[in-house]
Parts: sequence; structure tokens; C-alpha cells
Amino acid sequence: MVRKCNLRLIFGVAFLFGCVFLAFIHNLSATGEELQEKHPPVLAIVIDDFGGADIHGVAEFMNMNVPITVAVMPNLLHSIEHSNEAHQRGYEVILHQPMEPVKGKKSWLGPGAITYDMSDEQIKTTFVKNLESVPHASGFNNHTGSKITSSREKITFMLEVAKEKGLYVLDSITTPNSQVIPAAKALQIPWAKRDIFLDDIKSVEYITKQMKKGCQVAKKQGYAVVIGHVGHGGEVTARAVKEAIPFIQQEGIKIVPLSEIVRLNNEKGKI
Ligand SMILES: [Zn+2]
Repeated sequence: MVRKCNLRLIFGVAFLFGCVFLAFIHNLSATGEELQEKHPPVLAIVIDDFGGADIHGVAEFMNMNVPITVAVMPNLLHSIEHSNEAHQRGYEVILHQPMEPVKGKKSWLGPGAITYDMSDEQIKTTFVKNLESVPHASGFNNHTGSKITSSREKITFMLEVAKEKGLYVLDSITTPNSQVIPAAKALQIPWAKRDIFLDDIKSVEYITKQMKKGCQVAKKQGYAVVIGHVGHGGEVTARAVKEAIPFIQQEGIKIVPLSEIVRLNNEKGKI
């Protein structure tokens, strides 16, 4: 009798462990498809380079009435105005932080750039000051910046400020060596990454093709982040994005502010 009870106990415990193990494995292997069972595929459309004197495409995006995410460069002619207008229109705002690239001139970066020769203190002070010229920012991403984003040390100085201020980070991925996401994970800062650049070529045909690629990624992965630009050729990007909206909706993809994708990343236990 005692032996029978013991056996039952052993089987019971083994069954319980089995269930816990299966649940664990299931959780680990959550795929884009499973994510779609809970949510429709989602797409964040981030538009960089607001704030500057070249306003091509700005009015078109401001009037688009889909929840784009507006990335504003700091300390420029229209930085505060574009941040406030985007916020008033219900768009999410992020700081588009200029950072030194491996190739290219520092002078292309504009005021408030983070350069490799800066000290810990200089980077932090500059970043804080930049945030003052981009009111309502809920996160930040990099404008160029391959030299800085590939330095774990330099990017960490910015991320420490971001953590203090409750900001998330979007890695635009301008270099395959980027340390932004590993550094964000180490500091437990919510993050997202760019999947597709929309407008390396400023033609409606090319940008439409890139938007469709973004939709494919969203359907496969459950979410996708695409990045386009205002400024030179910005009206072409705006036209192509606007014309792609009915297609995105037909595909059952929901356009969301970037923070929604950051939230999904958190939900999946990536950070
Ligand atoms: Zn940029």
C-alpha cells in the first residue's frame, strides 16, 4: 500500500514537472504567428529629421492622420515647434540624436551632436540639453552615429540618462556592430530596432516596395519598424507612405506608435 502511494506520488510529481517544462518550452518558442493570435501584426512608421530648416514633407506627415512617430533633431530652427505640433496632433515624439559616424564630417551632424572625443560628463550634459529642445520625447534614436553606437561605453552614457528619464531607445542600426541593444538590455531599458529603411532612394516606386517589405516583416515577426525621412525629398516619402496606407490596412496590419512595439518587446521578455 505504501509503495503504491509512493508510486502515485512519483508519477504525480513527474507529471507536474512535465507540464511546467512544456509550458516553459512553449513560452520560449513564441513566434510571430503566436503573437498574431493575441494581436494583429503591428507596424511603426518612424519619420526622422524633423526640426531642421528643410521642411520638405513636414506638412504632409503632420496631416497624415495615422499614428506615425516623429523623430526630431535637437537645437534646430523648428525643433520645439515640430515637437509641440506633433504632440498636439497625437503623434509620438522622440529625440533624433545626432552622433558621430565612422565615415563623414562632424560638421554634418548639427548642434547637439555626440562625438567620440567627448567625456562621460560632456555626453550626459549634451544629451540632457538636447532633450529640452525636443519636448514630449518618449524615447530617442540615432541620426547616423556608427562610431558612437559601436562603442558600448559611449552609448551607455546616453542610456544611463535615458533610464533616469524613463525613455526608451530605438536602434536605427546604421552599423552591424551596434552595441545599442546589448547595452540597453544590460541597463534594462526598453528598446526597439529598425527593420527597414524606406527612402535610401527617393522614388515613390522604391519607397512603396520598402513599405511592402515592412509589411512582410510585420506579418512574419508580429511587428516591424520602418524609418523614413523629411527634409530633402521628404514630400516623395510622404506621398508613398500615404498611398501605402490602404494596402497596410487590407493586409490586416495595424499602424501603431513606436512605444507599442517597445511594449511588445517587453511582453515577450526580451529585456
Ligand atoms: Zn537622421
